[in-house]
Amino acid sequence: MSSDRSLLIKGGRVVTSDGDPHIPPIQDILVANGKIVELGENLGAEADVPVIDATDRLVIPGFINAHYHSHDTLAKGVMEETPLETWRLLALPPAYPKRSREEIKARTLLGALECLRSGMTTVQDMVTLYPFDPEHLDVVVEAYDEIGIRAVVALQYGDIKGIDTIPFWREIFPTELHGSLSTAAEPDPGFDQLAYFVDTYLEAGSSSDLIGWALGPSAPERCSPALIQRTVALSQKYGLPIFSHIYESKGMALQARREYPEHGGSLIRRLHEEGLLGPRLNLAHSVWLTPEEIGLLGETGTNVVINPLSNMKLKSGIPPIRALQDAGVSLGLGCDNCSCSDAQNMFQAMKLFCLMTAISHIDGGPAQAPQAFKAATQGGAHAIGRDNDLGQIAMGREADLVLIDLTDPSFIPLNSALRQLVYTEGGRGVKTVIVGGRVVIQDGRLKTMNEAALLDQIMDVIPRFQKDYAVIKARVDKLQPYLQEAHRRIWAEDVGIERLFHDTSYPRF
Ligand SMILES: [Zn+2]
Repeated sequence: MSSDRSLLIKGGRVVTSDGDPHIPPIQDILVANGKIVELGENLGAEADVPVIDATDRLVIPGFINAHYHSHDTLAKGVMEETPLETWRLLALPPAYPKRSREEIKARTLLGALECLRSGMTTVQDMVTLYPFDPEHLDVVVEAYDEIGIRAVVALQYGDIKGIDTIPFWREIFPTELHGSLSTAAEPDPGFDQLAYFVDTYLEAGSSSDLIGWALGPSAPERCSPALIQRTVALSQKYGLPIFSHIYESKGMALQARREYPEHGGSLIRRLHEEGLLGPRLNLAHSVWLTPEEIGLLGETGTNVVINPLSNMKLKSGIPPIRALQDAGVSLGLGCDNCSCSDAQNMFQAMKLFCLMTAISHIDGGPAQAPQAFKAATQGGAHAIGRDNDLGQIAMGREADLVLIDLTDPSFIPLNSALRQLVYTEGGRGVKTVIVGGRVVIQDGRLKTMNEAALLDQIMDVIPRFQKDYAVIKARVDKLQPYLQEAHRRIWAEDVGIERLFHDTSYPRF
């Protein structure tokens, strides 16, 4: 008898690491118990193994969204360009009243559905649950398991208040407003989230083969040395990857210069001295790294996750992709928050990855489409510690596969499957998504849940969210004069590097 995770996928153009990525050869893929067991021509299978006809389909490994937050999937499209520090006040959970169990379930499923529909088979969810309610973490995990996407879940935590991590805020804002300036992962004095996470999830082990765990120290400037030490110890004990934010905006680089003179004004040096750098650490953004810091990441095997969509929308800047590549840093790719990236779409992220690199250098460099695709697949697998079984189509690996329509105008004529995947496809061609041998999306429709009932569930929670967002937006609008003053002062400072393009012929402010 075949298991329900056995399949024969026939006649697709299969993108493998050692094959021609431009005109990939037509091959069959045999899947048994969720894993790829054979790859070749004219494969057969037992009569009860379902066959998927992949004629006119490009078969690629599922994308791995290596930096994502499920907590604001209801906030896509709520704003235009917004500087990072202002965006935090509008989007991050500490600004909101406690959410309902129903909303958390619905928003997690909505995000997962969008990821799946655009060809992602794994998400790294660095979720902020504030105020922390243990039940809410259960709901997040349950949602991923139910819809059938792989998820590497990390609670986002910190123990230093947001206002103390942003340059000039304490001096610019009147004292009576300080209480309303919560940002990323405000410390919750009443509950030790990390201890709960360890006892409930890490000690118990995962009940689903789709769910994995990671540690999520929000950013080094939001974590005390003691909390970083705790993170290092937990990562070692449980073999967990770590995800953190670094130097997303100029304000974060400036904060490092001002607050860490003992580490040469460098958060990377601080983390190195604290023992956090290394192959298990993934630093999201990394826009404002100095050349010396990039060298240190390369030497220690520390990884970076590039988030092109949010870096541009939040006016953070262009990350030094070529320098990171030259230093041998493994790159993953993420779509970050829905409130600032607007889309969980790896095609958009891959394209911007290449285009941002192109305009960063006058001289030509290595082909970036293969680099972007690698970051979206193998780089993500490396980030979550799954080099050996995810991120590539090869024998023995998990059957996390995406079938893309080669009859879509994006691929006609087929000049280069890889380049058209990166530069032309927008997601429209994603037809079938398979996670661990299980068909989750078929002909663009969700197979694991009743999609209409799921949409009803999501629609029910939207009015409450939109009402709360309107209140928060009105509150932040009143803070604009102070926020703009802080941005002006940050942008006027010299941090030794430049990652923002300024049209110098146009008057500033
Ligand atoms: Zn993030």
